[in-house]
Amino acid sequence: MNNFIKNIKNNKYLFVINLLYFALGIVNINFALLGFICMMLPMYLLIKTNKKTYCQGYCPRANLYTKVGKSTNKYSGKTPKYFINGNMKWIMLSYFGISLFFIMMSTIRVSSGLMMPMKSLRFLILFTVPFEMIQLIELNNILPWITHLSYRFYSMMMTTTVIGLVLALIYKPKTWCVICPIATISDVYLKANKKL
Ligand code: SF4
Repeated sequence: MNNFIKNIKNNKYLFVINLLYFALGIVNINFALLGFICMMLPMYLLIKTNKKTYCQGYCPRANLYTKVGKSTNKYSGKTPKYFINGNMKWIMLSYFGISLFFIMMSTIRVSSGLMMPMKSLRFLILFTVPFEMIQLIELNNILPWITHLSYRFYSMMMTTTVIGLVLALIYKPKTWCVICPIATISDVYLKANKKL
């Protein structure tokens, strides 16, 4: 029991938050909007502390990659150089920006009645996942654009998590962190702040 409490204090079980997020999407997809917290919290802590506080100890996703990656660590290769010095992080940031743009625009179109909500998951924006998402609870009176936004957001979280997991299995556990859009934005912010 003491060990368990100690592990909670050391943030060893942060990965559970990540698993819980995806599980909640199966309970009802509208819970996917909780993912906005994962996006806003790193930025809030960055601005407040002027360092990457979230990345340094509170990120459930990084914790998940560490747990999964460590199990195959002895077989893993080195992180490719183009991840560290090359354009990969900018490509990933562009994907993130384009995804958010599509999510925003399509949500506006759904809320204006110009298109039907897309109630399916997509991988990398383009590829429709070939199965329907199980929904354990139906919530009534949810506006169609909220459900659309939830599916789109869940898809983005699923895509980046899967990519990160694959990288964790092939390379080092936290390879995703090298190209994570949150880290790239944080680095740009800290660099700009230093110059002021
Ligand atoms: S770089 Fe991204 S995945 Fe890694 S700790 Fe920071 S926010 Fe989490």
